[in-house]
Amino acid sequence: MRIGLLTSGGDAPGMNAAIRAVVRQADALGSEVIGIRHGYQGLVDQDWRPLASRACANILQRGGTILHTARCQAFFDPAVRAKAAQDLWTAGIEALVIIGGDGSFTGADFLNREHGIKCAGIPGTIDNDLPGTERTLGFDTALNTAVEAIDRIRDTASSHDRLFLVEVMGRRSGMLAVHTAIACGAEAVLYPESEEDTYESLVRQLKSNWDRGKRSSIVVVAEGDQAGSAAMRGDIGSAAVDIGERLKKDYEMDLRVVVLGHIQRGGSPSALDRIWGSRWGCEAVRRLVAGERAFYLGTDAGQMVARPMSYVLEPRPEPPRELGALVPVLSR
Ligand code: ADP
Repeated sequence: MRIGLLTSGGDAPGMNAAIRAVVRQADALGSEVIGIRHGYQGLVDQDWRPLASRACANILQRGGTILHTARCQAFFDPAVRAKAAQDLWTAGIEALVIIGGDGSFTGADFLNREHGIKCAGIPGTIDNDLPGTERTLGFDTALNTAVEAIDRIRDTASSHDRLFLVEVMGRRSGMLAVHTAIACGAEAVLYPESEEDTYESLVRQLKSNWDRGKRSSIVVVAEGDQAGSAAMRGDIGSAAVDIGERLKKDYEMDLRVVVLGHIQRGGSPSALDRIWGSRWGCEAVRRLVAGERAFYLGTDAGQMVARPMSYVLEPRPEPPRELGALVPVLSR
């Protein structure tokens, strides 16, 4: 079997582990892998070439993706997908492995239903917001990166009795924010799915901390939180900066804002992201070779699971409510 392989959407640590596993498992089963560069854009442009087992040496520990990734607006167009499918058939590529998030899997679902290209998805996004899996590649690494950065900020926050607002990634998901907040003992967390985390509730929380003698605080803010964006923000800008400016204006608070930004995406993948990248890569190839047509992989209660590709249209998971509720309790 000739299998096309691409990474799509945002890059995430662990993608290279999955690439390596796909190539080597295919090699072990006598199949061939064609590496497609820049996600669906490379599919449209036929920017592809065979990817040999030896070409995957020394990539397991590297962040990013050796195949490069991109967003491809053209792939929303059915006519463009029809041409891409035709090109795949002509090149003898009958199956694809797609490493990416829900957008990438939605594109794959179309490609399968419209043109019969077999598609296997491997979840790769630091947001950990895919339905049907409790883990995605990159989340564990990004979480550890954010926690390590905030540990450093904590030292200066407590030395100077200062309030820090730290923004972590997550435009529409608070998964990274809530887990980071628990792991670094934050005093509060603001994230898009929570209705309780208004500006007013944050002020109440900070005041009550102050009254109890707590002079330094760390507030973790997800990039897409409403308390920031609803108030002052255009499309560009930062939720944490917005809230920071309001607090300074309304309460003359001495605070600092840190936007962790893209450092959360890069870096060497954690052991867990390497292990799941490897396991999912092998499993994807085994299932395609066995004749499965349209699925993506995940974990449920720590075990490997496969979902139909269309499952990606189910509602996205939200950060567990009980985790968010623990933050004020643990920071008393
Ligand atoms: P992610 O896969 O990380 O969620 P995006 O949502 O940006 O990232 O999607 C990555 C790419 O997948 C898009 O640039 C586009 O090429 C393709 N894609 C996303 N949604 C669709 C869709 N509804 N139909 C076709 N292709 C899509």
